[in-house]
Amino acid sequence: MEKKWISKNIEEFPLRPNLLEYDKEYRAFSWQRIAENFDGLPSGGLNIAHEAIDRHANGELRDKTALLWLGQNGEKKTYSFAQMKAESSRFANVLKSLGIAKGERVFTLSTRLPELYISAIGVLKNRSVLCPLFSQFGPEPILQRMQGGDAKVLVTTTRLFEKKIRPLLEQLNTLSYVFLIDALEDENAQVLSLPRLMEQADEVFEIERTDPEDMSLLHFTSGTTGMPKGVVHVHKALYTHWMSGKYALDMHPDDIYWCTADPGWVTGTAYGIITPWLHGLTNIVDESEFDAERWYSILQEQNVSIWYTAPTAIRRLMRIDSFPAQEYDLSALRLIQSVGEPLNPEAVLWGVEKLKMPIHDNWWQTETGGIMISNLLSQSIRPGSMGRPLPGIEAAIVRLEDDGTLTQVTQADKEGELALKVGWPSMFRAYLHNEERYKKCFVGEWYLSGDLAYKDKEGYFWFIGRADDIIKTSGHMVGPFEVESSLMEHPGVAEAGVIGKPDEMIGQLVKAFVSLKAGYEPSEELRHELLGFGRSKLGAAVAPKEIEFLDNLPKTRSGKIMRRLLKARELGLSEGDTSTLED
Ligand code: ATP
Ligand code: MG
Repeated sequence: MEKKWISKNIEEFPLRPNLLEYDKEYRAFSWQRIAENFDGLPSGGLNIAHEAIDRHANGELRDKTALLWLGQNGEKKTYSFAQMKAESSRFANVLKSLGIAKGERVFTLSTRLPELYISAIGVLKNRSVLCPLFSQFGPEPILQRMQGGDAKVLVTTTRLFEKKIRPLLEQLNTLSYVFLIDALEDENAQVLSLPRLMEQADEVFEIERTDPEDMSLLHFTSGTTGMPKGVVHVHKALYTHWMSGKYALDMHPDDIYWCTADPGWVTGTAYGIITPWLHGLTNIVDESEFDAERWYSILQEQNVSIWYTAPTAIRRLMRIDSFPAQEYDLSALRLIQSVGEPLNPEAVLWGVEKLKMPIHDNWWQTETGGIMISNLLSQSIRPGSMGRPLPGIEAAIVRLEDDGTLTQVTQADKEGELALKVGWPSMFRAYLHNEERYKKCFVGEWYLSGDLAYKDKEGYFWFIGRADDIIKTSGHMVGPFEVESSLMEHPGVAEAGVIGKPDEMIGQLVKAFVSLKAGYEPSEELRHELLGFGRSKLGAAVAPKEIEFLDNLPKTRSGKIMRRLLKARELGLSEGDTSTLED
């Protein structure tokens, strides 16, 4: 693939980026200096809720809007930092009065309502563990996670309770209480009205001493490659959140910030709750699901200046033939970041053309707890690259030898597994109830991500694919991302998912599943055109040899293409865990 640079003219930026000289900042960085930005608790230790909310509520930002909530039907609610402090303290008092202790798990299953955000902060204040579930999960994935995560309390709505939880109650042995966000009265001693509990609770709560290593969050992975894993995080992770908010998201005090992710996924908690508040920003939450017009209107009407979203959403916006920068006033917007899947170069360039600014790709995982590698506002972008490691993060390309030792691949452009030097504050501390699996992720002082990548000579990292998705064809190693991105350069292709199909002659044959943009219909002619297009872009060895049209590609509910499912279906194998599969 031809690699273009997008350079930046910082003179034209409305604000001076927080990070101007990458090498200098990277070298000078120390986590100790990051720690100096925080209060610590009056009772000692470090607590996310205190640093994100109470610290600001006790100071100059007390009346500033912390949460700006946009309801599905046009309602709007705002909460200042002082109000968030009071409400979350009430919630913490509710937990405490019911005897919910430090380390015990509080699950949430709710659409993006203000109560979800209040509960999240309240749980952390009580030093209990927050475990947010995606509201569109069916009963089976909910049961799996609540059983596996030892759920003690569940916060949910009456509708979701009736539909999904009531039939499971008998099987949820550890569950002591259900709080119903919208019930006016208790149902019995177990199923309680949250408004009633909140009304009777005091709005003053003193957070007890919290060890920076105390568990804060339990998050399940997306299940893209198999059974979702329960990932354990600690309060100290806030240092990574603050650092990445500063450098990758370039947060400045007056920014209006919108992260489109649901708290059911780690991006929606780390960057939809914690990080903007650590920086004292106004955080926008939209209750609705994706809708192109609505999204552009939010950007315009709320004067969003930093927008954090995902490739799947961007591809959906690209599918619609529109010119947002002309049709909407997006003049407040100054930075777009994206995470979750590889961001195709085509998407970055679409941003330049239609939004009048590039989209910045960044890479991380549930396990890393925060952004590790990112394209930066002040730095040139190479479309298709994930960017460079953030200050404080050491990333490398490594190879695991047969004898179990690791070697670092120092040669530029040479592929291997993406690894991180252990010790960054938001590193996961366990896979819940799976010590063995956790241990397997580490060799010496390196954490192995399971993703394959390479590093170019300027230090930018390029994603190749998940180790499980790599295709071996005629002696070549082919990453699906490269093939998918090339196909997407064809004007008719909306999305592509590429797999390797066993083949006696060449090991694996590259097969592409393609969904088309409006105005294009599947046909033999188009299939041949795409096969030829692939060959011209990639060369015969790497280009897909088979193409199949699908209306939609199978995806996780967080929007990731599930290549393992494409493969299982192609080969007639068992589909494995499909708990996160989109409807
Ligand atoms: P599971 O571990 O259950 O299979 P998952 O890995 O998709 O699910 P997450 O932790 O949500 O669960 O996703 C992290 C993974 O997403 C990364 O390991 C990587 O494969 C992919 N990813 C995230 N951001 C990027 C990016 N910018 N470019 C390429 N891949 C990305
Ligand atoms: Mg994973």
